[in-house]
Formats: sequence, structure tokens, C-alpha cells
Amino acid sequence: MECALCKKIKEREHIVYEDDLVIALLLKEAVAQGHVLVTTKNHLTLDQLSEGQIVQLYYAANFAASIIFELLKLDGTNIISTNINDHFTINIIPRKRDDTLDFTWDPLTVNQTEMDSLLERIKDALPIEREIEEKTEAVDMDEKRKEIITETENYLIKQLKRIP
Ligand SMILES: [Zn+2]
Repeated sequence: MECALCKKIKEREHIVYEDDLVIALLLKEAVAQGHVLVTTKNHLTLDQLSEGQIVQLYYAANFAASIIFELLKLDGTNIISTNINDHFTINIIPRKRDDTLDFTWDPLTVNQTEMDSLLERIKDALPIEREIEEKTEAVDMDEKRKEIITETENYLIKQLKRIP
């Protein structure tokens, strides 16, 4: 059976942005008006993506968030990433101060011994020297998108004032 997200992508409705890897959709069934889902067009989860592809996805997400933030005069955006049905997804959730949405939680104080033990195990599991991929131009932007960058630089400054 076809996955629900592939089906949605194939409907080709409410496309905000698209390139070889990424598609960004304005959602009809949304957390709030302006909710954008940025996702891989094919079945690729976070662990299967290259560094360049991750940059490409978050680049698209950052622009979508900046534009939605400005157009809807938002107080903030929350960026929530998950793997859904073998697609890596980035949800851009529009936020207003009085929207009553709450993505916060009460912190749990973890036992210090357990914490130290887990930290050691994580460090042991990590490779000692990580091989850094040759930095390549991950995002092949056309002139139009370069123009958008210039125009939206002030959006990025406004993001500093966003609600968390
Ligand atoms: Zn799928």
C-alpha cells in the first residue's frame, strides 16, 4: 500500500517549494493556518541523508519559516522534525502569542549516575575521528532564490525577536 505522505506528494496540491530532493506543502489539515510541511520527496530518513541533503532541507525550511513569519505577521514559528513513513519531515508551525499551543514540557531531573553512565556510552559509540565530507555546494540556487536571500535578510534579523 502506498504511504500516506507519498500519496499526498503525488496529489501535487498546495506546493510552496520544490526541488530535486525537497517538497514543501502548505497543509490543509494543519496545526494552525500557515503550517508548512517540508519533506523529502522520496523515502529517505534522517540517517539516510547526506550532509548536503540535510542542508538543502533545512535551507528550504528556514526560508519557508521566514516567509510565513513575515506574511502572517507571526510572533514565532516552531520547527519540529520527525521521520514519518520513511520520509524526513520538518514541520513549520506558525505561532501567535495567544494561540494556546504548547510544545513545552516539565523537565525531568535525571539521576546523575545514570546520566554519567549514558554520557560515557554515547562517547564510546561515537567514532573518534569523524570523517568530514568534502564541503560541496549543497544547494544549487538559481538567481531568483539569490534575490530572495537579499530581500529576506531583514526577516532573519526579525527572527531574533521570535517567541521560542
Ligand atoms: Zn512515502
